[in-house]
Formats: sequence, structure tokens, C-alpha cells
Amino acid sequence: MSESEVSQEISIDAFWNALYIDGEWETPDDRDRIDVTNPATGESVTEVPAASVDDVDRAFEAATRAQAEWEETTPDERAAVVRRAATLIEEYEDEIREILAVESGGTKPRQDIEVGGTITFVHDAASFAFRSSGGHNQSKIPGKENIIQREPVGVVGVISPWNVPLKLSIRAVAPAIALGNSVVLKPAQETSISGGLLLARLFEMAGLPEGVLNVVTGTGPEAGDRVASHPDCEVIAFTGSTPVGQMVGQNAVDHFAFPALELGGNNPHVVLEDADLDAAVDAGVFGSFWNQGQVCISINRHLVHESIYEEYAERLAERAAELKIGDPLDDDVVIGPIINADQREEMLDYIDRTVEQGATLETGGAGEGLFVEPTVLTNVTNEMAAACNEHFGPVAPIIPFSDDDEAVELANDTEYGLAASVHSADRGRARDVADRIEAGMVHVNDQTVNVEPHVPFGGVKDSGMGRYNGKWIIDEFTQTKWTSVQREPREYPF
Ligand code: NAD
Repeated sequence: MSESEVSQEISIDAFWNALYIDGEWETPDDRDRIDVTNPATGESVTEVPAASVDDVDRAFEAATRAQAEWEETTPDERAAVVRRAATLIEEYEDEIREILAVESGGTKPRQDIEVGGTITFVHDAASFAFRSSGGHNQSKIPGKENIIQREPVGVVGVISPWNVPLKLSIRAVAPAIALGNSVVLKPAQETSISGGLLLARLFEMAGLPEGVLNVVTGTGPEAGDRVASHPDCEVIAFTGSTPVGQMVGQNAVDHFAFPALELGGNNPHVVLEDADLDAAVDAGVFGSFWNQGQVCISINRHLVHESIYEEYAERLAERAAELKIGDPLDDDVVIGPIINADQREEMLDYIDRTVEQGATLETGGAGEGLFVEPTVLTNVTNEMAAACNEHFGPVAPIIPFSDDDEAVELANDTEYGLAASVHSADRGRARDVADRIEAGMVHVNDQTVNVEPHVPFGGVKDSGMGRYNGKWIIDEFTQTKWTSVQREPREYPF
């Protein structure tokens, strides 16, 4: 199909059955196809090509060619393209909300945060074109000038997940482009549009030169694996599960690419006995159930002091049972569908096993189709299935503790270290507990789901390597070069 035949509109009904390589929308007939399905209804939305290794290689060739010219453009030009992409997201907000609802089960509360956050992030990323800066350092050699420059790395490979697809793709794509890099993006196959092809169309409409952004829809083991292991990939920006991230990181290091890995979490919400219970429960409901709990930074475990345990559990269960479940196209719905049957089966299995291990099901535990009711489990220990695994669902296991030391011990008893929250009326005490929690991000008197464009985002332990946002992502997507200039004749020892 030629470019002119491809509809340029942004809507769920637009033409999406294509790869986007070197500025062309390609619809090769001989590739396997990936179904894009509405998880709320099971209806087919469209299909997209499954990119081959050869497609990925062509995307890298195009990206390498285009990058050489793109890095020579002025920061003004690069910033203007990224700003235009942000403006287009504002202009097409309703259509993008519909795409997020239909393709990825994004309810209105998720759309609000994902679309709003994306606009802010992309506007901020536009400024990176001017914010990548070096310096002049002193020299111990007489007459020498030391110049430290930051340059684009070249081609950035981006592999993204399905859970907040637009935001988690664009948080890497927009900074990479603003900084003078080119990109090969492989979205999750469940969200080939919102995590991939939609970005291609936005940046094409924004005037990005051909080849600077390439989108290869496809499977992880084929297209994803090739993106991470391609010799021209200089940085691989991967967001996804820890086991896949580990493989991707190894592939990257094999050809000396820098792995920027944002991986899984098992995030504790710690409620000390002097906490404001209303605030802690409000935070707990949002942090566990936003986006059906399919969030790397959602609350995976509620750790609650034994003296307030029963009251906290009762209130949380009451609130959970009131949340409206249904099709995300209904604005009142809070709990949409789980993305696919495998994810749903896995979380139901964690719930069943946790009950078999002795926990009490206070509410939820089932659901029709791909839906899972908000679930609250009490009498849980840290070793039970829903607590020691990243359940990635609307599941709230509540674990009691007797003092601050035990709370910290339980919070840290996981291989992950992404996010955490601590509630106490005594902010100093909460801060002391926060300091002892091994996590990249800890929030006092709030919940775990927080992201801001100018503060560092990322985890410790098995939750990843590196940090997104602001100056931290600028450092990851640029490389440092030392140029020295000898201004006077230099004396050598021989
Ligand atoms: P996933 O690891 O299954 O897939 C992520 C991406 O990797 C997809 O695009 C997939 O196609 C690709 N992939 C799969 N196998 C691959 C391979 N062998 N080589 C290269 N790429 C491959 O994760 P998911 O199910 O899409 O997302 C859920 C996971 O992502 C959870 O563990 C969650 O915590 C994590 N996550 C982390 C963050 C963060 O910022 N830390 C954000 C969102 C999600």
C-alpha cells in the first residue's frame, strides 16, 4: 500500500495495519499478522504485521542514515517538532482517549493521567534539545583546554509494555528525538497502535524527517529480540518484566549498548499505627486499583500495623467492592478489563493459592470475561503467592506488622525495589522508615503511583538500571566526549 492510500487520521478506525519504516507505511502481505483486540468486548479492532528480523534490520538502516542528518539540525528545529507532537496530542485528545480505552482497556481515570501526563512529558522533552550541555574543565597540563561535550548516542532502541502504552513509549521516544538521536520502537503486541503506530503518525504529522522514528510492530522473541541485539542499537530503553529485561540487558551488553531497564516491582504501602486512616485508605484504594493494578508502581502489598489492621481491612474492602467494573468507554467505570487471558489467569491463580495458603478473601476474587473484581485479602503473610509475586492486578493483600522494624523488614523482603509509600502522622518517623526502604522511589503520606517529568523515575535491586526523566534521561540518551586543545607548545619527557 502506498503512503497516499494510508489514512492519515488519528482514530481507532484509521488504517493501522502497517509497519512504519523510513517514513513509509508498509503493509507486507507475507508477514504473520497480530490481532489487535478490544479486551472489554473481545471484538477484533484490526490486525498489524509481525515484523521479521529483516524488517528490524531495515528499520535500523533507515534510523542510522537519518540520524546523521538529524543530529546536525538546530535545537530549535528539534524542539519545534517535539512541541508540535505535544500539540497534536492535545488536538486529538478525544480520539487518543478512545484508542486507549478500546485497545488497552484504559478507563477514564487512566486516560486522564496517561494523556495529561503524556502532554506534559512531551512538552518537557522538547526542552531537552537545549538542555544537553557540557563544560570546560581545568587541566593539569600548562596551556591545555579541556572541553566536555554531550552528543547524541545514535540509534536508541525502545521496547515498551502494554499497561500504560502511550506514556511508556513516548517517555523514551520524545527525549531520544529531542536530543538528536533516531529511534526504532517495538511496542508490546497487545498495544501496537497506542504504544507504537500512533507515535509514528503523531511525529509524521509533526514534521519529523523520514527515518528518525521507525515503528516495528511484532512479537518479543522475534522483533524485540532483534531490536535489543542489533549491533547499531546504542542504547536500549526497555520497559517490561524483570525476566525479559534481564535477557534484553544481556543482549545489549553483548554489543556494548547501554541498557536502560525499567522493570517490575512489588511495592509496599506501609501504614504505621498513628497514620490518618482515612488518608491511608484513600491512598490504598487508588494505589492498588488504578488501571486495574496493572502498573509497575502500583501497591502490591499493604503492610498495616496490627492495632489498626482490622479497621483498615474493613474500610479497604468496602471501598473496593464499590468500584464500578465495566467497559472503559463508560466514563464512570474505574475497573476495566485485564489486558489478556494469560494475565487474568495468572492473577486469579495467585488469589486462589493465597487463600489455599490460609488467607481470607474479604471481597472480589472472580469476574466475567477478562474482568477481575477488586480483591482484598487479609491474614496474608509475605510468603503467600499474592504477596511475594508481582500480581499486576486489582489485588490488595494486607499483611500485619508489630513495629517499625518489622515493617521495614517486610517491605524489603522482595527481590524488587521500585516504589513504596509510608503513612504516619509523624512525618519525621515516616521519613525515617522511608529512608530504610530499599526502593528507587518512596512517598510519604501518599501512595506509590507517582510520576513527574522532572524527577528521577526508576528502581533498585531487580527493578532495573538507570533513571528516566529530566537530566537523568538526558545523560542516558547522550554520550560524553572529552576534547582537549593544547594552546601552547607542550614539553614531553622524551
Ligand atoms: P514483558 O516483559 O512481557 O514485555 C515487555 C516488552 O518486551 C514487550 O514489547 C514484549 O513484546 C517485549 N519482549 C518480550 N520478549 C522479548 C525478548 N525476548 N526480547 C526483546 N523484547 C521482548 O512485559 P509486559 O507484560 O508487557 O509488561 C508488564 C511488566 O512490565 C511488569 O513486570 C511491569 O512491572 C513492567 N513494567 C515496568 C515499568 C517501569 O517503569 N519500571 C513500567 C511498566 C511496566
